[in-house]
Amino acid sequence: MDFGRRDFLLSAAAAAVAPQMIATPAGAQTPLPAGGRKLGYAIVGLGSYGLGVIIPEFAHCQHSKLVAVVTGDAAKGKRVAAEHGLGANAVYSYARFDEIRNNPEIDIVYVCLPNSMHAEYTIRAAKAGKHVMCEKPMAISVAECEAMIAACRKADRKLMIGYRCHFEPFNLEAMRLARSGAAGKIRYVRTEHGFTQGDPSKWRLKRALSGGGSLMDMGVYSLQAARYMTGEEPIAVTARESTDRNDPRFREVEDMIEWNLEFPSGAIAGCQSMYSANQNHILLMGDKGRIELEPATRYSGNHIWTGKDGRERELTPPPGPGVTQFAGQLDHLADCIVAGREPIVGGEEGLRDMRIVEAIYRSAREGRTIRLDGRA
Ligand code: NAD
Repeated sequence: MDFGRRDFLLSAAAAAVAPQMIATPAGAQTPLPAGGRKLGYAIVGLGSYGLGVIIPEFAHCQHSKLVAVVTGDAAKGKRVAAEHGLGANAVYSYARFDEIRNNPEIDIVYVCLPNSMHAEYTIRAAKAGKHVMCEKPMAISVAECEAMIAACRKADRKLMIGYRCHFEPFNLEAMRLARSGAAGKIRYVRTEHGFTQGDPSKWRLKRALSGGGSLMDMGVYSLQAARYMTGEEPIAVTARESTDRNDPRFREVEDMIEWNLEFPSGAIAGCQSMYSANQNHILLMGDKGRIELEPATRYSGNHIWTGKDGRERELTPPPGPGVTQFAGQLDHLADCIVAGREPIVGGEEGLRDMRIVEAIYRSAREGRTIRLDGRA
């Protein structure tokens, strides 16, 4: 059986139906928001992701629009507002952040700040009556994640984590193939994510701002991939770290960390992240074949192929739920707010990852396996 081609054709056919509806990654259909009003986002943090990646994506959104920015650089805020047709009152400083409560145009706050600031701005946004999209990693500790979930729940606001791969066609196709049994019984997942860090003064290399090194940044992609490719929750983790502490980049945070996850089915994931080489890869091995992505989780240009009996076949996945993964992600939260549904990657999903992240660090530190299922 040529399972790769067959599954591709099936999913392409499914994607071709109901053009007025949005296909969510779970396959459900979401009606367009009532009244056609686009929900308004305030972007907090005009850095490389918030300004460079997310803001241009509103051009591809059907249900969301940019209505405000929050920045420490007033001149930059003014320039960005002018470029996007926003008034001067759409620019907030961090000191004036809480005044967003008085702006009914803002439905959602998107936190694109250094990791250690995610909890504070998520909680303040919820208290101001706004829904929240928070970048990954959700925060820098389990306690912070729990406080964020509690604050959003208390304010009756939605909380979603910026796990864009759940809206990215190649990753969606890989998940669908894995769930369909295309590779047979899943035995092993291998995934590595990294890039070469340069300037030692960057916040990603300062523990107080990042909460950790490559694991907090790129390792989250490996951890997510291990979970969404197997579809299981790990029961144990064993990790080890390798960092040259004489390298001025790595005085405060780890460079390379590797961890194994054990799953209830007997599957094992070998995961890795590093700050001293570029890599971006996911491999799933089942007893009937393999599913591989490389690059796997980039903004664009990903590749997927299947392998069986020594034959490989590259696939072209059907489109995702949005024009781009970013637009799909932005519109998903807007749709969930309108429909009164929970996002597919809500705060609980970020919390699950952070519990495992803490266990990975603990395992590496203590040199032993850490159980995640409560068993001794
Ligand atoms: P960046 O350094 O380019 O931008 C950070 C922004 O925060 C800047 O506007 C900066 O001025 C502001 N800021 C406010 N207080 C600061 C402080 N005390 N120190 C440093 N900066 C401060 O970072 P980035 O790459 O845009 O990352 C922001 C967040 O987005 C991070 O949590 C990161 O993990 C996440 N991110 C996600 C993706 C993704 O693909 N989902 C990609 C890149 C970054």
